[in-house]
Amino acid sequence: MYYIELKNTELLLKQHLAHFEYISFNCNNDNPFIVFLNTNRNNILIGSPTKHLEIINDLYQCILTETQTVPLSEYCDFNTMKIIQIMRNNETKNIIDIQFELVWPMPLKILRNKILKKLNKRTDKSDILDIFSSLASPLQELINYKNSPLDTIDDIVNYKRQTKTFWKQEFLTLHASQIDPSFHKNLVNMYLACEKEFNYSLFSSKENKRWSAYQLCKAVAPRICPYCNRNHTPVISNAERDFCRPELDHFIPKSIYPMFAVSFYNLIPSCHSCNHSKQALDVIKKDCFDKFSFKLCHPHVKKDDVTSHSIFTLENTQDVVEQLINYNSSPNITVGLEPNLETKILNSLEAFHLSFNFSNKQQGFYHHHDKEISDSLRLIYHYPKTALNKLNILLYQNSTSENIVSLQNLLIEQIMSTDCKNESLGKLKNDCLKEAVKYW
Ligand SMILES: [Zn+2]
Repeated sequence: MYYIELKNTELLLKQHLAHFEYISFNCNNDNPFIVFLNTNRNNILIGSPTKHLEIINDLYQCILTETQTVPLSEYCDFNTMKIIQIMRNNETKNIIDIQFELVWPMPLKILRNKILKKLNKRTDKSDILDIFSSLASPLQELINYKNSPLDTIDDIVNYKRQTKTFWKQEFLTLHASQIDPSFHKNLVNMYLACEKEFNYSLFSSKENKRWSAYQLCKAVAPRICPYCNRNHTPVISNAERDFCRPELDHFIPKSIYPMFAVSFYNLIPSCHSCNHSKQALDVIKKDCFDKFSFKLCHPHVKKDDVTSHSIFTLENTQDVVEQLINYNSSPNITVGLEPNLETKILNSLEAFHLSFNFSNKQQGFYHHHDKEISDSLRLIYHYPKTALNKLNILLYQNSTSENIVSLQNLLIEQIMSTDCKNESLGKLKNDCLKEAVKYW
């Protein structure tokens, strides 16, 4: 949510790439996925977040090209296909299969009922019935796909038809091993190659002195966690030893996309709470332009920075300010969210458990900071109108409303944080203060 400002970016990227110089993928031209890795190696390591999305897009296209002879490509385009799970052997932890999720055509019976329901509400039905009958036959063909070379897919379909979930969901899961043995082998080998070469454990090891997770954090970690703007993210070390560093969150989860396990722009220095709140949430989605995009704000994408947006609101601001000024009592503070926030911002607030709507009540970490907000608002209490008047007379000998306003603005500038993303809760406090000063 808060953009990470980088210094000497070019040098950092060079250093990062140089460190992984040794990475090589066995140039096996028979495996299109290994060829894919080799082609994209540098962009995977130091490509921008947008580049990472392009790589995912290309990967799915590559998968579909490889499945042209099997029904997978008939049932979906690459935008409706996702890898959702890497399946492992319980004991050896070796990858045994890769699970896909496909958006499956809605069963014809359900589609027909849905259309008829809508039709019943209309008087002129003939034209729509025509469209429906022209649509029905290709759909029927698709559903009753009889010449499938793979029995296993039919088995799944039959099974799903018999179960209730199929009628409720429009998704179908499929394993690489059920599609084609050589496709399965090639895909699994690519995943194994990723895990071996893009090795995060090796990168994060303390033994690794030259360029490591520690060095990366020292170079890029902001003062405060870029996801929550709450917790500090310092690196504590001296010449001999490294003591602690922020956690590195894999923005694109490495459990599904291990090719991004050591990618420079995919390693986000963050606090423990954020790294664990997000877990292995799949942050990739298809947007309204049929392109892959991120569901959450990316700390390395400048336009995702929320610093200059208004996000938080203070409920019953007038009462809150009055209680502070007139009674010097602890006001009852309720933080709300601005209406019509971008979905990406709302998703981020929810993913990091910062603020989400639960049973019509805002919950999350940001709703447990009333003490900090009230302390910050109390600064206003120290400059009530009477004090401003006195100051004004002292400075200008006469009290005019213009002078008061300019003094107020001066004070607000002093109170407000100019660099809120480098101050714990800076954004929350700034937004609340901005509202409160309207009631001076
Ligand atoms: Zn955090």
